[in-house]
Amino acid sequence: MDPIRTLLDNRLRAGLALAVTLLGTVACAETPGAEAGEAAALADVPWFGVMLPPGLTPDALQVISDRPAAPAVVPQGEAGWRELEGAALQRDLATIVGFSRESRETGEVGQGMLWGRITGFPSGRKTIDWVAAQFRAAGIADVRMQEISHAPDAGITLPLSWEVRLLGDAAFGDGSQDVVLESAMPLSGEIPAEGLTAPLVYVGGASTAELAHVDVRGKIAVQKAVPQGHTVFVRDPVGPRATDLLERGAVAVLTVIALPGNMRVRDIGCGGGTCFNLGGQDGRFLEAVLGHAAEAGSEIRARLTLESQRFSGLSAANAVAVVPGTSRADEYVVVNAHADAWFDGAGDNGDGLAVLAGLARHFGRADMRQERSIVLVASAGHHSSGLSGPGSFVSMNPDIVAGTVLLINLEHTAERHITPARSDHPDGYQEWTMDAHEAPIVAGISNGSPFLDQLVRRGIERYGTNFVSGPNRMASGEGGTYTRAGMPVFTAMQGSPMYHTTGEVLEMISTPGLERMARFTAFFIKEVSRAPAGQIDPQ
Ligand SMILES: [Zn+2]
Repeated sequence: MDPIRTLLDNRLRAGLALAVTLLGTVACAETPGAEAGEAAALADVPWFGVMLPPGLTPDALQVISDRPAAPAVVPQGEAGWRELEGAALQRDLATIVGFSRESRETGEVGQGMLWGRITGFPSGRKTIDWVAAQFRAAGIADVRMQEISHAPDAGITLPLSWEVRLLGDAAFGDGSQDVVLESAMPLSGEIPAEGLTAPLVYVGGASTAELAHVDVRGKIAVQKAVPQGHTVFVRDPVGPRATDLLERGAVAVLTVIALPGNMRVRDIGCGGGTCFNLGGQDGRFLEAVLGHAAEAGSEIRARLTLESQRFSGLSAANAVAVVPGTSRADEYVVVNAHADAWFDGAGDNGDGLAVLAGLARHFGRADMRQERSIVLVASAGHHSSGLSGPGSFVSMNPDIVAGTVLLINLEHTAERHITPARSDHPDGYQEWTMDAHEAPIVAGISNGSPFLDQLVRRGIERYGTNFVSGPNRMASGEGGTYTRAGMPVFTAMQGSPMYHTTGEVLEMISTPGLERMARFTAFFIKEVSRAPAGQIDPQ
């Protein structure tokens, strides 16, 4: 073997291949015959000289964050409210994320490739128990654990283990071994025990115009999605495209999701067929080698495996704390934060839950009693089908629901804002970076109340809360269930790109941002608690 070549690591090989390609391009125009030399050089290195993807590092921060978040603003008179300080909330958040990490380390679901605070599983139960303990420690006497159980026909299907393996072939260069794309995340589907092996076909955006020229029958289709902010925003176009590919005869769909680093992404379905998401750097590798294979006239094959299980007969709980009002105890301001999460879930919804715990300590104080009663709900959440936190709260607490003047839903509230950076990973994939503030927060006012909108404006002035402009009536997530039950809902919700990914780690959360949201929400609750009902809900 060439002694120089043995010294080359992947990165250098990639550089060499690039140099060879560039030289080849230049030489091509002037020197016929250089093409053969280029082909020979590429054949010497594995996988066309493309740098191999980095694998999956579950707890790694996938963005650059060298500079701190902007400090929280503490208005006059609030300095004594230590329970709302960022450091205290951050400690709680670390505890909450710890329940997720335990779920991974203990292999709560299969091999621990999917983890979280999963409703119906011990991680979900521990999280709710912990919040209930915080409610009691805050001095709130009325803390209720409200049990929820699966109906006989209900259940949730979760993936236990899986693999997306690109099959190595000497045609891709000497030493091209199999490559496992570790960021792969199954969304649904069934694969026989021996696995599913098929050639890959790249379909780009998978629009009708593109697919008119591509035959996907019997192949694994690879499509690409580039989220603009929240991954949810590409659910509508990308999910149906995957379904369309399966209907056209593809045996499976791989969706490259161009997000930071190399993360698993548990979002965007394909109508129950076999589909997996791939993270950014796995996607970069796959697109590059498919390009080279197309040039070389060769085909890349992949083997997919997936083992799933349907879980039924599960149970969970909502933790509900009631702080009685001083003069209008049968009227309620309800604050909801869901406790469940996929992966570490620091932003969805660890931050909202940490703020809820801080609010419990604040309103548990004897000197913080308000006119109306305050109800704090740590919801079992909405990820585990058949175990709805908000749905159960509504059905189990008709008196509170009837007397609610406003429901406040805290859902993804303090994640740092990230944008594409002006730098690349060693493999050429673009890096991402944080700025000094939180990701934009939607302030959804379901009834369009001008009074509530005015409070949002005052919140921006008092605390620097990064609410988006433009009033809107958004009440998605948990808010949808409460709105349908007839309650006016205020939703504070970020649409962060890291949502439902393994990259949503503790370091993605702004500690001052937690404090900003806690102080704003405390202010908002107090103003609402003493406002006339007709102002809160003008209808
Ligand atoms: Zn959520």
